[in-house]
Amino acid sequence: MKKVPNRTFLTEDELPKQYYNIAADMPNKIRPYLHPATFEPVGPADLAPLFPMALIEQEMATDRYIDIPKEVQEVYATMRPSPLVRAYRLEKALGTPAKIYYKYEGTNPSGSHKLNTAVPQAFYNKAEGIKRIATETGAGQWGTALSIACSMYDMECAVYMVRVSYDQKPYRKTLIETYGASILPSPSNQTNVGRAILEKDPNSLGSLGIAISEAVEDAATHDDTHYALGSVLNHVIIHQSIIGLEAKKQFDKVDDYPDIVIGCNGGGSNFSGLAFPFVHDKIVDGVDTEFIAVEPAACPKLTKGLFAYDFGDTAGMAPVTPMYSLGHDFVPAGIHAGGLRYHGDSALLSQLFDDGIVGAQAVHQTEVFKAAVQFAKTESILPAPESAHAILVAMQKALECKESGEEKTIFFNLSGHGHFDLSAYEAYLGGNMQDFEYTDEMLKAGLATMPNIPFQ
Ligand SMILES: *Cc1c(COP(=O)(O)O)cnc(C)c1O
Repeated sequence: MKKVPNRTFLTEDELPKQYYNIAADMPNKIRPYLHPATFEPVGPADLAPLFPMALIEQEMATDRYIDIPKEVQEVYATMRPSPLVRAYRLEKALGTPAKIYYKYEGTNPSGSHKLNTAVPQAFYNKAEGIKRIATETGAGQWGTALSIACSMYDMECAVYMVRVSYDQKPYRKTLIETYGASILPSPSNQTNVGRAILEKDPNSLGSLGIAISEAVEDAATHDDTHYALGSVLNHVIIHQSIIGLEAKKQFDKVDDYPDIVIGCNGGGSNFSGLAFPFVHDKIVDGVDTEFIAVEPAACPKLTKGLFAYDFGDTAGMAPVTPMYSLGHDFVPAGIHAGGLRYHGDSALLSQLFDDGIVGAQAVHQTEVFKAAVQFAKTESILPAPESAHAILVAMQKALECKESGEEKTIFFNLSGHGHFDLSAYEAYLGGNMQDFEYTDEMLKAGLATMPNIPFQ
């Protein structure tokens, strides 16, 4: 058999010209977003203070394919495709008959998949005459990506960064400021939401839910400012389909196809971006592929949460969405995978999980870092702690193949590198990392805050 190259690319001509939108193919459509004050379905006008109309249209679109603007294609061509890598050395170290592949999204200037959506979001805002974008960031990857995209389009960018990550990763601040954005730890004293939380708890670790509320308030109170979200929303998931669309063409080139598709799950964007073009084949053509969204045991929305309407943010300013949630004021433990500390999930991914089309698994951070270190030693890339959740489960599946002798093709998303996460590696290598349990009391407290709106 012909040996598959270590890395497979695409020519510029072969890069996708359209995004894929799973809304066209899913058997059960998602329920509508609701207005946070009235609980009535939101229309485009409700979202107009926050987003440009082109993104609002994508948010509600049911077209299967959506054109990528020429200008965005040109930017993608400077940094894509990301390589499809065959993990020969990892396979050998594990002694598995399985074939392991990953898509490495850390090769672009931002170091994670987030730039795939930051570029079109900045582009559409600029086209609508917006001068400034406010956003939140967890671990800092999204703030970095959006600050890069805003510098490309000569726009201002204000980043509210979750306090625990801001303290864990001081160099993120410098990086984001280098691209010209401003950055504040959240909760901050710049917004009503932030001040109210600091009054109750001056030492608040912050959460993505709080930072989103601050950024939404900022956008809603400045005429020239829009809000941008780095995950969760349908238009973000649509943009990230570029990952899976490229991967399908790359798999064609090496004459292979995944049996198992794995991604880590924060708000669902890297998992969905990689997986949904393959989920299409499962739904439409009946291909028997297993999909696993991997989440931290300290923030287990799919595996422990409730599928219900909940607020997307802590203060209840963002739309109420139908999703798996742990409750919008849940503040997860300060695990090192800051990008996975979101209380809820993508509506699209939540629906597909509820319908049994994709699966999920929760894992603890010490086992995640053990896998990350083995990956770094074999494949030489230092993975982001978030991405290492996917690595761990890919390794577990490969070891199951070793037991059974099956030569499955395992495919995961290496969503970013971990060059800004060295304090986490330091904690792990020094034996100073602990695991956090998610308790029934936390679940009860979280569910009690959810707005009890029955599904129709
Ligand atoms: C933000 C981030 C995640 C988690 O967000 P998703 O929307 O679930 O993808 C995962 N990996 C990396 C590297 C990230 O930056």
